[in-house]
Order: sequence, then structure tokens, then C-alpha cells
Amino acid sequence: MPITRRAFAFAALGGTLLPALPTFAKAPFTGTQAAGVYRHKVGAFEVTVLSDGWLALDPKIFTGDPEGAAKLLDSAFLPTNAVATSVNEWLVNTGDRLVLVDTGTSNVYAPTLGRMATNLTAAGVDPSAIDAVILTHMHPDHVAGLLTTDKKVAFPNATVHVNDVDYKFWTSTEIAAKAPDEAKPFFDIARGAIKPYADASKVMMLKDGDEVLPGFTALLAPGHTVGHTMLRLSSKGSDLLIWGDIVHNAALQFPEPDRALAFDTDLPMAVTTRKRVFDMVVADKVMIAGAHLPFPGLGHVAKASAGYAYIPTPWGADL
Ligand SMILES: [Zn+2]
Repeated sequence: MPITRRAFAFAALGGTLLPALPTFAKAPFTGTQAAGVYRHKVGAFEVTVLSDGWLALDPKIFTGDPEGAAKLLDSAFLPTNAVATSVNEWLVNTGDRLVLVDTGTSNVYAPTLGRMATNLTAAGVDPSAIDAVILTHMHPDHVAGLLTTDKKVAFPNATVHVNDVDYKFWTSTEIAAKAPDEAKPFFDIARGAIKPYADASKVMMLKDGDEVLPGFTALLAPGHTVGHTMLRLSSKGSDLLIWGDIVHNAALQFPEPDRALAFDTDLPMAVTTRKRVFDMVVADKVMIAGAHLPFPGLGHVAKASAGYAYIPTPWGADL
């Protein structure tokens, strides 16, 4: 019930004065953040955003004029040389099954990453309880967590769902051989992470428009990778668009969606896709969830006087 002025005054009168508490001169510093776990209801689904940690991205990896980028970052009170960038995954409890969307980095990246498994435990979920893993694409920060840090299968009871074109691309030894040296580890990590699942016949291909599982529709959004896929969750009239890597830096790419990322497989296509998806979610007013939006990365997109604006969803203390 919304609090009215009269009810508020009544509640305030009911309060009693507390005796003064003893003050503590000293307490140990905590030195750590609370668990990276945030829950949100989508109809009957309970979505838990899990943090894998963060990565410092140099703004130079975005296209466009550097002076303009520095201005945008500065006006967002961000450093202009290395921007802390979240890596998020999503656990969806449908009531019937536990579905994990993306898996984080395991231990293939920076020490500030690889925290998904710890946060999954903090969320009270045993990895063996996961029924399905859906990958938005096969970059290391989304696929590497299929394996534990000692290279064992992380989700022994899960079937892995991945876009067929993305799978063929990232597991192809021919394409990997022709890739530039700095991109070769991307192929090795992707192929290595999914191999034990493929060997056990636990990989299923998905295509644009497929209902991967009840309430999970795959929507192709190519450019960042060849088969980059978003997932539209729908339950009891509520929707959430898990858009994966449509945005890597909110301060730069909402106002100026033309700024592509050096890691995009096809930069012009990634830009076209980003604008198309922005226009779609502005028109739909659907809530979005981003892998690299500041944790927990849930919000809406609006049209701004120049470009677009990101409106993060306020913290919800109750579900
Ligand atoms: Zn990513």
C-alpha cells in the first residue's frame, strides 16, 4: 500500500526513542564487496544476475574520435584510460528447471574475474543442479566457465544450447588458423570449453526465432560475433530481453551507438544491430539485461536528444 501523508505521520508517532548505543572506536575493515547476486522476477520466473567480476577496458578499443570518447567518459565521472567493465551472467529458475545463461570466465582472464562459481554458491545453487546452459555467444567471458578452474565439466547435468553459426565459427580449426595471432586464444578457449559437452552429446544447436526452452526465445543479433544471440524471456505477460553484448560501455555506446568494439567480428554489422535493438526496446519498453552493463545491468533504453539513454532499474529489496 502506498504511504500517504497521514499514515506516515501515524507511523512516525508510533516510534519510541532508543537509548544511546555504546560507540565503537575501532572495527576491522571488511575489504571485500558483498556477493554479486541480484534477483528479479519476470512473471513466474526468478532471474538471478550473477557477477563474474570486472575487467578494465581501455576506451581505445572503441572506434570513433578519442576526444569525444574522453568527454563522454569524463561527464559520466569515469576514468578516461581504463573503464571498469562488469561481466554478468543470469540464472533463471523457471519453477521446473534451472537455466544458466552464459558462464563467465573461469580462470582464463584477469584475477578480477572468475567469480561466477563463487557467486552461484552464494546464491545457494549447486552447479550440478543446472539443467541447461544457454550461450549468447562463444567469446571467452561467456563460454570459459563451462569448465572449472581445473578444467573439469562445471555443469555435469546440463545440456548446452548455442547458436549453430557461432558454434561452427568458434570451433573451426580452419577459421582459427587464418585468424590473427591475438584472436587465436579466443578459438582455443571456446573449443576447449565446449568439447567435453560435445563429446558427451550434450550440445544442442539453436537458431534465430527458436523457443530454446519454454519461455526462452532466441533472437539473432549478429555483428559482435557471427551468431551472437539475445534471449527474450517471457512468463505470465512479463518479458526480459537478455541482450548479451549489445553494449560494452554504457557511457559511450548509448549516446553514440556508432562506436564499435575492436573485438566485434563484423564492426559495421555490430553497429547496425545495436541501433536496431535499441529501437526495438525503446518501442517495446521491454526491460533489458546486459552482460557488460554495470552490475546488475538491468534497465530500460530511452531515446535521448542525441542518441539513446540507459535508465538502470532501481534496486528492488523484495521480489
Ligand atoms: Zn562479452
